[in-house]
Amino acid sequence: MTTDCIFCKIAAKEIPANIVYEDDTVIAFRDLTPQAPVHVLIVPKKHMENIAALVASDDDEKLAGHIMKVAVKVAEAENIKNGWRLVANTGEDGGQTVPHLHFHVLGGRKMLWPPG
Ligand code: 5GP
Ligand code: ZN
Repeated sequence: MTTDCIFCKIAAKEIPANIVYEDDTVIAFRDLTPQAPVHVLIVPKKHMENIAALVASDDDEKLAGHIMKVAVKVAEAENIKNGWRLVANTGEDGGQTVPHLHFHVLGGRKMLWPPG
């Protein structure tokens, strides 16, 4: 747990969130400012800043695969059968605003490309 990290606090249940999935290693909750009818964030409970940190050890590579599986579970549970998008904004130019790794699951509307 990193002090003052909002997603660490959500994972520790210190601040509330609309949780849709949780297990020992990850938590998934609805985005506060949804950009699509379905907008869920998948967050590792352990604090790490980005994908580079995620793949930095063998254990975390396993976690990377697990997050992909959780994304599919979330999409199935949310019934976004027509398609969905998995996004990890990384760093300032990538549009990352919360420096705790998270994957956006977006769906329920036709997504645009390029994302801008
Ligand atoms: P990023 O811009 O880093 O890719 O995504 C951060 C996301 O976290 C944004 O979509 C933002 O709306 C969401 N967010 C920021 N603070 C909170 C919060 O306290 N609760 C929830 N549920 N979402 C948050
Ligand atoms: Zn954190």
